[in-house]
Amino acid sequence: MSASGQRKRISIIAPMYNEGEAVDYFYAELCEIFSRASELDFEVICIDDGSCDNTLIKLISIAEKDSRFQVIELSRNFGKEAALTAGFDAATGDAVIPIDADLQDPPGLILEMIKEWHKGAEVVLARRVDRSSDSFLKRKAAEIFYKFHNALSTIKIPENVGDFRLMDRVAVDALKQLPEHHRFMKGLFAWVGFKTVTLDYVRNPRVAGASKFSGWKLWNFALEGVTSFSAAPLKFWSYIGGLGAIATLSYAIFIISRTLMHGVDIPGYASLLVAVLFIGSLQLISVGMLGEYIGRIYMETKCRPLYLIRRHYGTRQ
Ligand code: UDP
Ligand code: MG
Repeated sequence: MSASGQRKRISIIAPMYNEGEAVDYFYAELCEIFSRASELDFEVICIDDGSCDNTLIKLISIAEKDSRFQVIELSRNFGKEAALTAGFDAATGDAVIPIDADLQDPPGLILEMIKEWHKGAEVVLARRVDRSSDSFLKRKAAEIFYKFHNALSTIKIPENVGDFRLMDRVAVDALKQLPEHHRFMKGLFAWVGFKTVTLDYVRNPRVAGASKFSGWKLWNFALEGVTSFSAAPLKFWSYIGGLGAIATLSYAIFIISRTLMHGVDIPGYASLLVAVLFIGSLQLISVGMLGEYIGRIYMETKCRPLYLIRRHYGTRQ
């Protein structure tokens, strides 16, 4: 019960893409958690992100029997970031907790998060202390990504912290003010700031089904993260160009002096070719880098909605 005597409401938002096998476990686990916090009201907003299995049917039957559960059906698969945004837009709670449907984020932590929130935290992060449930390659790639991102960007994203967290209404309203279409949630969460507390947890293996993030998807996700929060890759090429110009100038001075002293020297074809190819490839990389940013500017200028809702099931609180 809050100071004003009103019951506090917690919104849980769960993006789901082909999680038919996990839905029942997810529902059972949440119900158990809710029964341990009877002083709070809960609403669970499940976003069906264009699943092609029985996720939606299962979610609808849950929403029909349990008024705490609502379902937002998106018109197609928009990706986790868009699905999360749909959840944040629909959530009405005093605090909002995004959580994965596969129970890799242990729902048991929700109550601990709420405790910290009651103590005054506006954001409660959940940090994975043990990622042994992820593959070695994924862990290493994540580690490199965090290092690289944080070295380039002024907004540091905390290492090993995913989307699973509690956010107070003030932080959620701040997040909703960020209008960008390319939504790298981890970065946006870090950008809004607020009084933050971190809890540690051990990441469980998936309860059922398979991960939706392939290596290629993760690579693009990492690219999104870096380009959304740093212009350093763009500026980098000016420095490379500057260094190249200095090196070229020194080499030119050397050749001119040598020609003046020893006459014309015909050999040098190989070094010429190497230099031309090297500079050429540098130029292609830098043009590609420009393309990454221009592509994003292009997509932003279209101002398309982030997601489209086909239907909403369950009672809005
Ligand atoms: N997800 C989604 N849309 C997508 C991909 C994933 O809503 O296009 C959801 C998925 O159903 C799960 C969460 O995002 O609830 C995390 O996905 P996953 O477990 O596959 O990622 P991982 O834990 O392997 O990083
Ligand atoms: Mg998962």
